[in-house]
Amino acid sequence: MHTPEPYDPATIFVPPAADGAVTPRVFISPQRYVQGSGVLDYIGRYLRLVKVSRVAILISDRGRASEGPRLLASLESENIEAVFCRFGGETSLEEVELHQAELDGRVDCLIAVGGGKCVDAGKSIAFRLGVPFVIVPTLASNDAPCSAVSVLYFPSGVYSHIEFFPQSPALVVVDTGIVAAAPERYLTAGMGDAMATWYEAQACLRNPNGVNACFARPTLASTAMGEICAHTLFEHGVAAAAAVRDRNVDAPLDAVVEANTLLSGLGFESGGVAVAHGIAQTCTSLPGIPERYHHGEMVAIGTLVQLALEERLDETAKVSRFFAEVGLPAHFGQLSVDTNDTATMERLVEGTLDWPFTANMPFDVDARMLRRAFVDVQEIGVSVSQEVGESAYRRLQDG
Ligand SMILES: [Zn+2]
Repeated sequence: MHTPEPYDPATIFVPPAADGAVTPRVFISPQRYVQGSGVLDYIGRYLRLVKVSRVAILISDRGRASEGPRLLASLESENIEAVFCRFGGETSLEEVELHQAELDGRVDCLIAVGGGKCVDAGKSIAFRLGVPFVIVPTLASNDAPCSAVSVLYFPSGVYSHIEFFPQSPALVVVDTGIVAAAPERYLTAGMGDAMATWYEAQACLRNPNGVNACFARPTLASTAMGEICAHTLFEHGVAAAAAVRDRNVDAPLDAVVEANTLLSGLGFESGGVAVAHGIAQTCTSLPGIPERYHHGEMVAIGTLVQLALEERLDETAKVSRFFAEVGLPAHFGQLSVDTNDTATMERLVEGTLDWPFTANMPFDVDARMLRRAFVDVQEIGVSVSQEVGESAYRRLQDG
């Protein structure tokens, strides 16, 4: 079994220092993005673009029971053979290597069908197999589907590292009918992940040394995507959550699914990430948090911290209010983080300062500034959630 050398985009896009050349603008994207109610039934037809004959389908047992028959019917109609691989639930190296060994030399494409962890595991497996990959997100809970990066975790759920890939997905197929049938909390978690995109991209833009996921400069395209992503959430977020409660695919849901998946995905990858994701990744190392909360819920708190760090307290309050309205954590207490626990808060400080993309902030970040931001987020968030009420948050957490 051959495992390729890790891919480092900096070796491709960062000019050698001696050349004195400027860092170029680079935009990264999948080859095709397809979104609509019922599109899963046409996946075989879309695969004509990729020219495959035998695919692996990485999917959980639950996903296989619900989506498996439709996938198989569509693949069979195009004479594409399929083998199912059971996704165990964590994007760990152990999981990735298990499937690499099982599939080595047997397939010419990998289709990952599931949530963010399955999608990221699929990319890492396909990279090792040297085959194109197709992403079928069944949740709009994160912005992993469109990117050429995976976030790896230890089997415990604690953040480990990021893997970069030279290829983006050959196809991303989002069936909004499937997304609408998932619990509401997944869609709102996706809004938490997506809301960070515009603020992180702004930080990266304002810093002349800020870089995106291939260590290059952002483009106008990624900037525009980040901005419309945030506007779409503010405008349609509450209505989209209501649509999912009614299991209804309507215009607000379609808009928010695109914001959470395409706009946020391209926006973060080509626009750059910053402190919001540094806080979120550090939260995975706090006891009890990764088991109880989704990535996007941790990013929500991270976004508030980043805004407070930038001393944009009106914007912190605006975003905190939006989170309270849709049921995302609006303050640390709603993420089970006790701000009076010094050890926990210092862990958040250290982890954020260690996060490489904290350097994308347009100013130097230090521990004192982070501690100040934590206090602001807590004060603003508690006051906003008293005003808005906790009913949306409770409905999602208790549901
Ligand atoms: Zn994210």
